[in-house]
Amino acid sequence: MTFSIHGLPVARGIAIGRAVLVASSRLDVAHYFIEPSQVEAEINRVRDGRDAVVEEIHRLQESIAQMGPKEAPHEMAALLEVHSMLLQDDELAQGVKHWIKDRLYNAEWALTSQLEVVARQFDEMEDDYLRERKADLEQITERVLRAMRGVSSPLIQPLGRGERKSSQQDLLLDDTVDVPLILVAHDLSPADMLQFKQSVFAGFITDVGGKTSHTAIVARSLDIPAVVGARLGSQLIRQDDWVIIDGDAGVVVVDPSAIILAEYGFKQRQGELARGRLARLLHTPAVTLDGQKIELLANIEMPDDAVGAVNAGAVGVGLFRSEFMFMGRHGKLPNEEEQFLAYRRAVEGMQGLPVTIRTVDVGADKPLDDTVRDNAHLNPALGLRAIRWSLAEPTMFLTQLRAILRAAAFGQVRMLIPMLAHASQIRQTMSLIDHARVQLDNRGVAYGPVQIGAMIEIPAAALTLRVFLKYFDFLSIGTNDLIQYTLAIDRADESVAHLYDPLHPAVLRLIADTIAQGQAQGKPVSVCGEMAGDVTCTKLLLGLGLRSFSMHPTQILAVKQEILRADTGKLAGWATQLLAEDEPALRVVK
Ligand code: PEP
Ligand code: MG
Repeated sequence: MTFSIHGLPVARGIAIGRAVLVASSRLDVAHYFIEPSQVEAEINRVRDGRDAVVEEIHRLQESIAQMGPKEAPHEMAALLEVHSMLLQDDELAQGVKHWIKDRLYNAEWALTSQLEVVARQFDEMEDDYLRERKADLEQITERVLRAMRGVSSPLIQPLGRGERKSSQQDLLLDDTVDVPLILVAHDLSPADMLQFKQSVFAGFITDVGGKTSHTAIVARSLDIPAVVGARLGSQLIRQDDWVIIDGDAGVVVVDPSAIILAEYGFKQRQGELARGRLARLLHTPAVTLDGQKIELLANIEMPDDAVGAVNAGAVGVGLFRSEFMFMGRHGKLPNEEEQFLAYRRAVEGMQGLPVTIRTVDVGADKPLDDTVRDNAHLNPALGLRAIRWSLAEPTMFLTQLRAILRAAAFGQVRMLIPMLAHASQIRQTMSLIDHARVQLDNRGVAYGPVQIGAMIEIPAAALTLRVFLKYFDFLSIGTNDLIQYTLAIDRADESVAHLYDPLHPAVLRLIADTIAQGQAQGKPVSVCGEMAGDVTCTKLLLGLGLRSFSMHPTQILAVKQEILRADTGKLAGWATQLLAEDEPALRVVK
């Protein structure tokens, strides 16, 4: 039966495919397609893994039988019996075989896919005791996966999106293998999301997350349709269901009828045509009708994204979120050499164009490690995040500063400091940068000149610009956080997403003042939050005087199209009027 789920649109376009439900805790298994000739070997790998665990349980059962009731309580024997039964359950084995044979999933993927199917059945059971056996099932799956790790896999490179063979037409004809896959999860961390850059998935759906949560931001940078905040999505959608993601409307259609499929298939092709038309603007300079030259920069997460930025027509990187290199490393942070090589790769990838490296901004919805989410603090977004963490960890910070300074010997580098609010933080940061230079001098290591900028993303910063303009060479407005902190809206919380308003008069006032004061002092100001890549905000930002925008490379051409149609002379008057409105959003055409 067809039904739809409403969430938040985060990455545009239409994706049509089969659902792959993945529990957040199981995202670390590899997802790749095998060759038909490898089916047998993969089935055997799961069987061997399972047999190894059955054997292990048997041994335990035997040793328990020799113990007294004190050392081995009755419950333990019962539990092992349950595990043994679950392991040998035919439905599990048949299901795994189906995913491997019919869908060509690799062994680990097949096993976790079937786990989701069976776990759902447990969830639906009336009987409390049986329902709770889901945890046992998860435990034994984990053990089989562990046992399989010892058995080598015929490793195949995961298919990249571009390499997928199926078209929408194939999809309708061939309903077995080689159809696009849509990842459905309760939650995905930004680091998980990044891991999917080269993945098999054609779209994402998550239950939680706001439009400017970092998970959504990474989804947007992947440029594949995604919907977050779908609430019960992962419970309502079943493994292998056909789903349509409408990333523009934030709607997910489950089990669509043939008519709906055809309609969305048409929409999908229209979108592709529109993108094709935009591509013609690649080499057109970003100049407004009245001759204002606009700088279009890229936001990147990894050094190798630089190539994509140049190909998309960016004239530099306005925000390199360096923290992605620090995440998911189980506490082992990148050393100076590793960071230096990564920054140098980004600098060289930009072929002489400037690269703005933001110093590490972990915390809140970007934990260093997914496994250690910050539950200890009630408001992690207000906690030890970004520059606060860097200043609290000077050794880590100095390591990063030295790496950035060294990379600056290889091209134009700008350094950007996140989340500053206090003059004392500015002074401390500047003195650590000086200290990093002295350390490099003492070691006789070469480094280059850097311009130093501050992110304006806390209202306190926007209200004390005088101090910032005294110390910094340039400013970059982080509208994602500026909105979050001005309106007291957690940007990652879908339940307050409707209150997250980039056009709130208070937000517009802070943006307008920052641009105006920067200009008055001759200091460049850019916007690097999601507003910069939102075409519905382009004219307004131009009207407020903005001349430098930094966004996901995929949005550059659409924003350029808006710029080519804009007359900043006319827009300035309109924007000034808008600043005086109670509800400016009513006057901005979406
Ligand atoms: C912002 O806050 O607008 C910004 C660009 O930084 P981030 O999204 O990484 O917090
Ligand atoms: Mg920010």
